[in-house]
Amino acid sequence: MSDIINNECTGCLVARGEVGASIFETEHFILNQDAEVPLKGFLIVTSKKHVNSLIDFNENEVEELSSLLYKARKALSNLNICNEVTIVQEERSKHFHIWLFPYYDWMQEKFGKGIKYLRDINEYVIENATEEDKSETLDTIEKLKEYFNK
Ligand SMILES: [Zn+2]
Repeated sequence: MSDIINNECTGCLVARGEVGASIFETEHFILNQDAEVPLKGFLIVTSKKHVNSLIDFNENEVEELSSLLYKARKALSNLNICNEVTIVQEERSKHFHIWLFPYYDWMQEKFGKGIKYLRDINEYVIENATEEDKSETLDTIEKLKEYFNK
C-alpha cells in the first residue's frame, strides 16, 4: 500500500532521481533545480525519506540538511546567480522539501516583493519562459554541479 502511495509522490520520484535535474546529493538529501519551473537558481532540497516535517529527522540528519542548505545558498551568491533568496518549507506537503527561491528585480516590477507572490511568479515563469530562459536554467545547473563536485 505504501508503495502505491510513494509511486505517486513527486518527492519520492525526485529522491530516486526519476524527476528533476540533480545537482548534488548527501546521504539523506538531494539538491536539485525545480523540474517544472525554468527559473535559474530555483533550488529544492528534498529528503530521501518520505516524511513531511523537520522533526522527522534525527540531529545528524538535521546537521546534514543545514550544511547542504548553507552550501546551496552560498553557491547562489558565489556564482553570482542571485543576491536574495526566500527559503520555504511547508508541512502540508506530504514529502519534505525546502525551496530556495531566487529573487530577481523583474519579479518586483511585475508582482511585488514577498512570499505571497511566489506561486504567481511560478505560474508566470512556467507560462512565459523563453528558450533563452530555459537554456540559462540548464547552464546554471551545470555551473552548480561543477561548484558542488569540485
Ligand atoms: Zn514521498
